[in-house]
Amino acid sequence: KINALLSIKNQTTQTVDGHPVSLWVNVTGLNDVIRSTEIGSLGVGLFRTEFMLMHATEYPCEQKQYQTFCDALHSLNGMPLTIRTLDLGADKPLPFERKVQEDNPALGIRGCRYSLAHPQYFKPQLKAAMRAANHGHVRLMFPMINQIEEIEEIKAVIEECKQELVNNDIGYGDFEFGIMIETPAAVFNLTSMLPELDFISIGTNDLTQYSMAADRSNTKLARVFPSLSPAILKTIDLIVIQAKQFDVSVSLCGELASVPKVVPLLVGLGLSELSVDLNKFLEIKSIICSGDYNQFQELAEKALKQTKIQPLQQLIYTRI
Ligand code: PEP
Ligand code: MG
Repeated sequence: KINALLSIKNQTTQTVDGHPVSLWVNVTGLNDVIRSTEIGSLGVGLFRTEFMLMHATEYPCEQKQYQTFCDALHSLNGMPLTIRTLDLGADKPLPFERKVQEDNPALGIRGCRYSLAHPQYFKPQLKAAMRAANHGHVRLMFPMINQIEEIEEIKAVIEECKQELVNNDIGYGDFEFGIMIETPAAVFNLTSMLPELDFISIGTNDLTQYSMAADRSNTKLARVFPSLSPAILKTIDLIVIQAKQFDVSVSLCGELASVPKVVPLLVGLGLSELSVDLNKFLEIKSIICSGDYNQFQELAEKALKQTKIQPLQQLIYTRI
C-alpha cells in the first residue's frame, strides 16, 4: 500500500475535475521537515515550536532558533514554513521553569498570553523567525488569539524587535502574519481581525475543546463531544465564508484534517489548504486525487443539514 501511495508523490494534489488543494504537513522539528519533503509535501502548515523546548534544560537562544528555522527553510527550498510561536502553558509546561499553579491551566496563561507575558522568550523567537525570513518563505502564526487587542500587542512587539535588529545592523526578511482560530471569541471577532491578517488557520483541537467546554485530553468526554459534530461543522463553515469575504487565506491544521474520511467534507466546505499529520499525508492526498469537487460540495451541503452527531458521523465515516 505504501508503494502504491508513493507513486502519487509527484502528482499535483487536485480533485479528478481539477480543483487544487494545498496539502501541507504539521511538524515538531527538523526531522519532520526533511521527511515531509521526501513524501512530496509542498510546505509546512504548522511547526509546533514548543516541541523544540520540551526536553531542553534551558531556553534555546535566538541564534540557535534562527539556525533551526534556516535549516528547515533550506530543506523546504522556497516552500512555506508556518512557524507557530510558542504554545506553552496548559498541557505544555516549560521543563526548566517552575510550574505555575493555576486552577484551570487550559483557561490560564497559555499560548499567546504566555508569550506576551514572557518577552524574554517571545522576542528571541520572533527575531529568529524574522531573520530566517531572509532565507525562505516564512509565515508567522500566533496561537490562542481572541481579539484584535492581542494582534495589536503582538504587532507592537514585532516593531520593537525590528527596531532592535536594525539598531544592531542585523537583517530580517518579509513574512506573512497570521493567527490560529481556536476559540469561539476569535470566530465572532473575525471581521475585526481579518483586515489585519495575511492568513488564518483553524485549530480544531482547541476550537472543539473551548466550544464544547470539554477537555480535549479527557477520553471519556471524546465520545460525547467528538471532534466532528454539527456545532463544529457550522463553526468551520462560518470561518471559511468570512475569510473568503475578506480575501484572507484560510487553512485547517487541527487533527480533524488528518482524518482521511473527513477530508472530502473539509474540501467540500471550501477549504483549499489543509495541514495534516505526516503519516497520513499520502493517504489524504490519494483521497483528494480520487474524488470530484462537486461530490465533495454535495457531501458538505448534506453534512451541514445534519443536526445530530450520530447521523453526521454516519454520513462521513461510513462513506466508501
Ligand atoms: C489545535 O488546537 O487544533 C492545534 C492545531 O494546535 P495544538 O493541537 O498544538 O494545540
Ligand atoms: Mg491549539
